[in-house]
Amino acid sequence: MAVLTADESRILKVLGQAMFPREAQGLPDGVDARLVDYVDGLLEMALPAERTQLRGMFQLFDRGYAAFAGRPTARLVEADAEDAAAWLRSWEESPVYTRRMLFEALRSVCLMGYFGHPEVNAQVGVTAAPDPDAPMAFLRRVAQGLGEQEAAEQARAEVPAQRADHFVPRTEGLFEFADYQGDVREHCDALVVGSGPGGAILAWRLAQQGQKVILVEAGPVMRKEGLTRDGGHTMTRLMWDSGMRTTRGGVILPTMQAKVLGGGSLINSAICLRPSKNALASWQEDHGLEDMTEQALAPHFDAVEAWMGVKPVDPDVQGPRNDLFTEACRRVGLTATPILRNEDGCQGSGGCLFGCRNGAKLSHDRRGVPELLALGGRVYTSIVADKLLLRDGRVAGVEGHIEEPFTGRRTGFARFTARYTVLAAGVIGTPILCQKSGLTRPEIGANLRLHPSTVVAGELDQPVYPWYGAAQGVHCLDMLDYGIKLESLWADPALMAFRMPSMGKALKRQLLRYRNMLIWDAWVSGDDSVGAVRYMPGVPRPAITFDVGPADVRRLQHATATLAEMMFAVGATRVYPGIHGLPQVLHSKDEVPALRNAPIDHHAMPMGSNHVFGSMAMGAEEQGHACDPTGAVYGVRDLFVCDTSLMPSSPGANPMLTMWAIAHRMGGHLAERYA
Ligand SMILES: Cc1cc2nc3c(=O)[nH]c(=O)nc-3n(C[C@H](O)[C@H](O)[C@H](O)COP(=O)(O)OP(=O)(O)OC[C@H]3O[C@@H](n4cnc5c(N)ncnc54)[C@H](O)[C@@H]3O)c2cc1C
Ligand code: SF4
Repeated sequence: MAVLTADESRILKVLGQAMFPREAQGLPDGVDARLVDYVDGLLEMALPAERTQLRGMFQLFDRGYAAFAGRPTARLVEADAEDAAAWLRSWEESPVYTRRMLFEALRSVCLMGYFGHPEVNAQVGVTAAPDPDAPMAFLRRVAQGLGEQEAAEQARAEVPAQRADHFVPRTEGLFEFADYQGDVREHCDALVVGSGPGGAILAWRLAQQGQKVILVEAGPVMRKEGLTRDGGHTMTRLMWDSGMRTTRGGVILPTMQAKVLGGGSLINSAICLRPSKNALASWQEDHGLEDMTEQALAPHFDAVEAWMGVKPVDPDVQGPRNDLFTEACRRVGLTATPILRNEDGCQGSGGCLFGCRNGAKLSHDRRGVPELLALGGRVYTSIVADKLLLRDGRVAGVEGHIEEPFTGRRTGFARFTARYTVLAAGVIGTPILCQKSGLTRPEIGANLRLHPSTVVAGELDQPVYPWYGAAQGVHCLDMLDYGIKLESLWADPALMAFRMPSMGKALKRQLLRYRNMLIWDAWVSGDDSVGAVRYMPGVPRPAITFDVGPADVRRLQHATATLAEMMFAVGATRVYPGIHGLPQVLHSKDEVPALRNAPIDHHAMPMGSNHVFGSMAMGAEEQGHACDPTGAVYGVRDLFVCDTSLMPSSPGANPMLTMWAIAHRMGGHLAERYA
């Protein structure tokens, strides 16, 4: 083992066998699936803080067993299979919220380990298509009634040529970790920190207008060879805090932020939706953002949509999971709309959240960064900005360090000076950088907003192959004014399995029917929920607190019930809503009203969120806002923000497109101001 001790391996083996016990037939057990080896590899990739956290969790499950067994020296590793399973169930069904959350975390790690084995993927059907990156021909054959093997054989001839050339070229002006021979010192007009949707669009726009631009990105460049269809690997390598970031406070809510060239655009579903009228009206009325009108922003939306190749998902790559969503909406009186995405040549692989291995998604490594380089801009990857250079009330650039990708090892110093600095390090990264540098206004890092989201699974009596088809191909906007959006979704078999029976033989048997599962999600406005981001000196991770208010819980509950109703409308025989304290499996639409109306609280509702905003809110009044309406940070000169932290509340839409428009507009203002 690279990381796990012999004792830790034993603990994990027992946990793995409790989750996936041995049976005469069917899927492999935890040992045969080599779950321990996978988790060892995952720990090797994880950063030290997260590695310690995971090891602590394994120990807790082992040593905590003493209290359950009523013997102070008892350990889980010595328990028989039945007792081990009973012990884990006591966590799952615990009235204590944090214990249930820990069980979910453990289960996720075990599922990742289990799906790390090719035999599991093959038997479950995840790799049924001859090329999982281009599965549409296979799906068409299945729809004609062919079995998996025959469908795969016939589809093989149709697998399209790979587009490996569609990744960021190694060009002059692009610096990667291997290029650094010593410290880096540079000067420019405009320094942009962070290459996500905010930073990349802004940097390109400024370069277009003749500014000398440097873009600094903490993460590495990812090309096809670095992208895998493994959720555990992707999260550990391409996300901040090894993908284990969660909020604390009222709810423990997982939230992911990318650490890679292109930021969130590389690992998101590429959904492009303009902000809602209500959101823009609230920004004008409640925050004095008078020029945030539909009319004033329209030219910026038009420009970025055209340039980023935004278009509706091609019906040929929707696949059954998305098509059934459309049909389900129709049957319950709702409207489904094909999603608009920034892509060119989607193969319906369902892999958007792993980074598009087909090079079809137009993430910023493919659009934004290459054009910036062509205009003479320079892009420094694997450099983390640590501190603003703050002198006499003015920001003159940043200092930081060169970081080896995936290990966090510091190998050099970096200093960038600039006429002006723009922070586009994301909702967590930007306020943390300000706070670390001594900017202490209370508005910095306050007002964290996000879209709490939830996932519902439903089982049909025929294959759906939820892992194939555009990752998110259709959505329903009918309830957006009430703060609810419904979507079809795919991410990763290990992660999406969290709605199925918790563990044991029941889970294994359910996994054999995984190909029949529909997976759909909903997110809500978060209008009733707020949190904060704080830098804590000496603590390796940001403190992110969040509370979800009752109105948002109600929205999530209503959305869950509606998704359940939709699933039954297209023939689901079972629906898994995942709400604690309510039935875990529904068998008929008659059970939906009880689900919709049951009294529940925020701890009962399963939640996550990847849409975050608000921690550097812009507004006309200095009090209550971190930035002014142009994105300038109050109280300091030559420092701006251009990421979703600027949005004072939910844009009423998936945030990327709104961010592009704001960045596009800001590029014009800044180039004029610093002409
Ligand atoms: C899994 C997932 C799916 C999503 N799907 C969609 C979708 O389909 N549609 C949509 O509209 N939105 C989606 N989102 C949200 C969307 O991706 C984000 O809102 C968007 O990426 C935010 O853009 P940003 O520029 O504000 O920040 P980010 O994209 O987070 O970019 C910030 C960048 O700054 C870098 N950085 C941070 N700190 C530093 C530092 N100190 N020094 C140097 N660099 C630093 C980071 O590594 C990162 O690359 C999704 C998000 C996730 C995680
Ligand atoms: S579904 Fe996403 S990852 Fe797959 S080909 Fe289409 S854009 Fe790329």
